[in-house]
Amino acid sequence: MKIEISATEYLSLVRSGSISVEEFIAKTLDHVHSIEPRLRAYITLDADNALDKARSIDKKMRTGEKVGSLLGIPVSIKDNICTAGIRTTCASRMLENFVAPYDATVVSRLRQEDAIIIGKVNLDEFAMGSTTEFSCFGPSRNPWNTDYVPGGSSGGSGVSVSAYECIISLGSDTGGSVRSPASFCSVVGLKPTYGLVSRYGLISYSNSIEQIGPLGRKVEDVALALNVIAGHDLRDGTTSSGAKIDYVADIGDGIEGKKIGIIKQMMGEGVDGEVISATESAIARFQELGAECVPISLDAVEHSVAAYYTIASAEASSNLARYDNLRYGYDFASEGYEFKAYVSKARSRFGPEVTRRMLLGAFVLSAGYYGKYYLKAQKVREMIKSQIENAFNSVDFLVTPTMPILPFRIGEKIEDPLTLYLLDINTITANLAGIPAISVPMAFSSSNLPIGIQILANSFEEKDLLKAAYALEQTTNLPGVKI
Ligand code: GLN
Repeated sequence: MKIEISATEYLSLVRSGSISVEEFIAKTLDHVHSIEPRLRAYITLDADNALDKARSIDKKMRTGEKVGSLLGIPVSIKDNICTAGIRTTCASRMLENFVAPYDATVVSRLRQEDAIIIGKVNLDEFAMGSTTEFSCFGPSRNPWNTDYVPGGSSGGSGVSVSAYECIISLGSDTGGSVRSPASFCSVVGLKPTYGLVSRYGLISYSNSIEQIGPLGRKVEDVALALNVIAGHDLRDGTTSSGAKIDYVADIGDGIEGKKIGIIKQMMGEGVDGEVISATESAIARFQELGAECVPISLDAVEHSVAAYYTIASAEASSNLARYDNLRYGYDFASEGYEFKAYVSKARSRFGPEVTRRMLLGAFVLSAGYYGKYYLKAQKVREMIKSQIENAFNSVDFLVTPTMPILPFRIGEKIEDPLTLYLLDINTITANLAGIPAISVPMAFSSSNLPIGIQILANSFEEKDLLKAAYALEQTTNLPGVKI
């Protein structure tokens, strides 16, 4: 029995009785145990419960009881999404032992459909970062070359999907955190429209821009996961109440007659030559599929990184103020209760990147600087929104490289926050504008490192976006990792 299969293949094998859920989960867990020392995708495994759940699904199938549509598909969950009974650490010393008393809405929806949670996966602390190196548990490693970063912040999601340690993963994407690891690990990753997927139970970093999104080895698997997690949630007032959509149906429709804008500002200076040629070949494929491709200019992109880091840090400084060790946290009682010492000792449990963001955020919100930085950043955000709106008056999709450069060595850029921030240049536009964006594996560099293509669509047009991604995927036929 192979575990290197797509969700669709898995479902048909289980449905036909060719494999049992227990067999598949047991084999996946064996593989996870053997490979984790090299990859470190998981922070916490929930192996015993996963096997129990597998047996109970097999039993339900034998006795003809109703079974959920995901039939025991193994999933991993980024460790900033709450799971009742399994700790949710945010890869931070601050929450090292935190067990949420409830499931995030996305998790309870997956469980309702009988998905099996294998465990919680690694991230940059509180999802702040682009490489997974800022995890208090240490970095995850890229399965295509274990000396290289897997992207981030949902690096554990990208690695676990790419290396067959699960079939689907949920990540969160504030500025590219689902798409970056998808691109670096050669898997598919979708950031949905702001408001399509509930954030209830996602530990907030920058709540006005982030969304939970699925990763899978195939576009169709991501569509299947979106079918389950998307939709209105009474517990998240920012979710839209639009009608339920089936994202899998008609996914093979193609993109004939569609118009695609190629964002000029994301194809020039600072972009690796091999990334440019992969993007050019994606454009050629789109044309062969009957789409028209035209260059398009979004000049607000020039200011997007500065605006993003201003807004995201401002929101982070406010969202992370709650970790004062009084309401959550650690018992230092044995060391006495002197208030200042007590709180400041706890606050020093944050790592360097989170500390930098909180300081930056408090600064840009402070009296005297608010107008100069925070307000200005909000104006840039409006500018980006209106330029995007304009663009979608004349095209159906926008296309860019997902990441401007190839995956790089662990440790290579960790001392240089600005260089790391600039890596998000192509992904943050979708977050600031609230629109959906997907990364699809496109090619490999001469050094056999993955290159992903990003496709963006207008708000709530995930269905068409997935069709475009699927059409591109059919032209690539890329191998999975050998590991
Ligand atoms: N690299 C970006 C940041 O550090 C994006 C992170 C994310 O999407 N969660 O903010």
